[in-house]
This record gives sequence, structure tokens and C-alpha cells, in this order.
Amino acid sequence: MTLYASLDEASQWICMGCNADLVVGKVEVHYMGSGYPVDLSRCPNCGQVFISENLATVKMAEIEKLLEDK
Ligand SMILES: [Zn+2]
Repeated sequence: MTLYASLDEASQWICMGCNADLVVGKVEVHYMGSGYPVDLSRCPNCGQVFISENLATVKMAEIEKLLEDK
């Protein structure tokens, strides 16, 4: 879901180190001792992951839901 994409600056970020456009890809997020693949913005050059506070909250909620379903 891209519910918050238009509400913050996440749609067009640039890596400050490389001046490269970020790409969205699967990133392994570790939470509660397990890893989960989540779509996040990352720099294709240095691999730095960027996430807004809003998006972090949404993603953590998604992961918590996955945990509850188990
Ligand atoms: Zn970079």
C-alpha cells in the first residue's frame, strides 16, 4: 500500500552521499528477532535505506499483523 506516499517526501528521495535517485526494493527488516522482506526506498549505489517516520509506523504495523496471524 502507498497510503502515505503522497503525504510525505518519500516519493522522490535522493541519496545525499551519491546524489542518486532512490529505488524501491525488498529490504530485510529485523524485528522481534526475525527478518521480514519489506518494500523500502534504497540507494542503488551505496545501499543506504531511507524510510520516513510515517512509513516506518505503517511497516511496523504490517509486520506486527504478520506476527499476530501466526
Ligand atoms: Zn548512496
